[in-house]
Amino acid sequence: MTGGATPPAVPHNRLTFGEAEARAAADAVASGQWAGGPRVQALEVALARRARRAHAVGVASGLSALRLGLKALGVERGDEVIVPAYACVALANAALALGASPIAAEVGEDWNVDPRAVTAVRTSRTRAMIAVNTFGAPADVASLGRTGLPVIEDCAHGFGHAVADGVMGGRADLAVLSFHATKLIGAGEGGAVVTDRAEAAEVVRTWRDYGDEPPDGTRLNDKLSDVHAAIAGCQLERLEAMIAARQARAQHYQARLATVAQRTGAFRLPAGPAPRVWYRYTIELTDRDAADVVDALRRHGIGAARPVTDWRPAGGRACPTADRAYARVVSLPLYPTLRDDEQERVCDALEAVLGSARR
Ligand SMILES: *Cc1c(COP(=O)(O)O)cnc(C)c1O
Repeated sequence: MTGGATPPAVPHNRLTFGEAEARAAADAVASGQWAGGPRVQALEVALARRARRAHAVGVASGLSALRLGLKALGVERGDEVIVPAYACVALANAALALGASPIAAEVGEDWNVDPRAVTAVRTSRTRAMIAVNTFGAPADVASLGRTGLPVIEDCAHGFGHAVADGVMGGRADLAVLSFHATKLIGAGEGGAVVTDRAEAAEVVRTWRDYGDEPPDGTRLNDKLSDVHAAIAGCQLERLEAMIAARQARAQHYQARLATVAQRTGAFRLPAGPAPRVWYRYTIELTDRDAADVVDALRRHGIGAARPVTDWRPAGGRACPTADRAYARVVSLPLYPTLRDDEQERVCDALEAVLGSARR
């Protein structure tokens, strides 16, 4: 974003919250138990139940959850961790923080890691993989699991929703969540690891706290506070309603934009109505750069965004679909409180920007 620019009339994100979150945070403060208290524990119980898993451990962030999750799966210095070529840089950082190497694997047309690409990049040093439910579309965890490699399901964009092969967050060896403010479940900051594996949960529980252990650089401070846990707990109670509201908004985009996409040939809609979470609504441009269209939409007062930044070092393995995603994907405003008039304004702006795009 350019400095000093006025905020867009229709922002890219708007948080969903009410009295419940305000009261829960105030109650947590008033309780005098700000860390390691009952609210962290209550959230852990609720998260595990939601994912139909035995254990959940609250941590400080999504990156904490990824790092400690990889550690719990036995990832060590010199190992390789497969990550989607199109994904948040936090995944690569989690591997690097353990002295392991992130290996980018090509994604498919739903922008999720392609199980065949995992087989192609796997080596004898590969210890685990991370699959993201990208923008809320379920990763193919069943196929990924058949590779025999341990899988982490990154549920920052999609959690607690029934999909073809189970419930998001309950499909892999281990699932991770981020409670960063703008994620599906927001709390400001925070995260969690969800798993059926008692030993893995214990590793995360032990390593989130540097405790009084001898210093070795591996135990940092990855704890979740009770204030954040209280807010996340309220969001979890809203999850079903938030997912339903997002779905209604996304279906409206699908219907309203289908004719624009067809008439102009300027963009492709996100893939269909299969069970998914609509965390983001993204279009793929045919031949214009995402950066240009994001700028043009901003000039119309619309807070569009390029949702993922390319973290890959130059000269790596070719991943043309991921390259296309980085260059062509634009995320439009989508959240439970997006009003009809705001959504209409987004669609009008998109038509104005792309309406004459067929060249
Ligand atoms: C945001 C995000 C993370 C990192 O979470 P933080 O809480 O910001 O550390 C990891 N994975 C995905 C898919 C994310 O969107």
